[in-house]
Amino acid sequence: MRAVARTLPRPVGLVPTMGALHDGHLALVRRARAENAAVVASLFVNPLQFAPNEDFERYPRSFDRDAALFEAAGVELLYAPAVAQIYPAGFSTTVDVGVRGAQFEGAVRAGHFAGVATIVAKLLHAVEPTSLYLGQKDAQQTVVLRRMIADLDLPVSVVVAPTVREPDGLALSSRNVYLTTEQRAAAPSLQRALAATREALAGGASIADAKAAGRAQLLPPFAFEYLEVVDPTTFVALDRPARPAIVIGAARAGERRLLDNVTIPALDGTDPVLTPVVGERRTAQR
Ligand code: AMP
Repeated sequence: MRAVARTLPRPVGLVPTMGALHDGHLALVRRARAENAAVVASLFVNPLQFAPNEDFERYPRSFDRDAALFEAAGVELLYAPAVAQIYPAGFSTTVDVGVRGAQFEGAVRAGHFAGVATIVAKLLHAVEPTSLYLGQKDAQQTVVLRRMIADLDLPVSVVVAPTVREPDGLALSSRNVYLTTEQRAAAPSLQRALAATREALAGGASIADAKAAGRAQLLPPFAFEYLEVVDPTTFVALDRPARPAIVIGAARAGERRLLDNVTIPALDGTDPVLTPVVGERRTAQR
C-alpha cells in the first residue's frame, strides 16, 4: 500500500471508514476530492475498537457496493486490508490515548479509543496522506486523534467535516439500519435534546438547568448514557457555561446506541470542531 500510495500526486487526502457507506462518508470523500490531488479511502472493520460484547461480527458489511460508491465519488485508491494483515499473530502494541479516551465513549466502550488510535496510526503509515478526513459526528474521536497526531509528531493535518443528517435531524450512521420502527421514530429526539441544551445555555441557563432542558426532549425507548457540555480541547465536562463548547450525548435503547453532538462556537464565531472550507468565511461575510 505504501509503495502504491507514494505514486499518487500530492496532496493526498485519506478518508478512513468501516464501510456500510452512507452520505456522511461520501461527504468526507467529496471534501477530500475538492481539497487534494488524490483521494485514498480505507475500508476496514477494526476488531480492536469493538468491546468484547459489541457487534464486530454483525457489523454491516457491503464491500462491492462500498467499492462502487467510492469509485463513483472519485476515490483513486481503496485500502481494504484483511484483519490478519493489520494484526498478524504476535501483534501486541497499541496506542494509549490517555485521559481524553477514558471518558464518555471510552467509558461505555472499554478499549475503544486505543483501538481507534492504533488503526489510524497504522493507516497513516500505510498511506502517508497530507490530510486526514474525519466526521464531526464522532467528536471525541476527532479530539483523541488530533492529540495523538500532535503527541506523536505525525506529519498529517486533520480536516473535520460537518455531521450529515437525515431530513428529520437524525445523524447518519451505518448502525441506523438496526433500529426498529419505534426506535427510528424516537431517534431524532437525541439531536433535539442536544439542541435544547445549547439553546438553554444561550439563554443564560446553568449547565444543570440546560442539561435538564435537554433530557426532557429525549423520547423513549431511548435513555441517556450521558449528556454533557465539554471543553472542545480537553473533552472535560464543564461545570459552568463557557464558549466554545461541545454538547455531547449518547442514548441507549436495549442493544442500540445513538451518538451525536452539537457545537457552541467561540465568541468570534469559530467552530470548535469543524475545519472551515477555504474561502467559506469570506463568502459568509459578503
Ligand atoms: P465509520 O465508518 O463509522 O468508522 O466512520 C468513518 C468516518 O465517517 C468517521 O470519520 C466518522 O466520523 C464519519 N462519519 C460517520 N457518520 C457521519 C455523519 N453522519 N456525518 C459526517 N461524518 C460521519
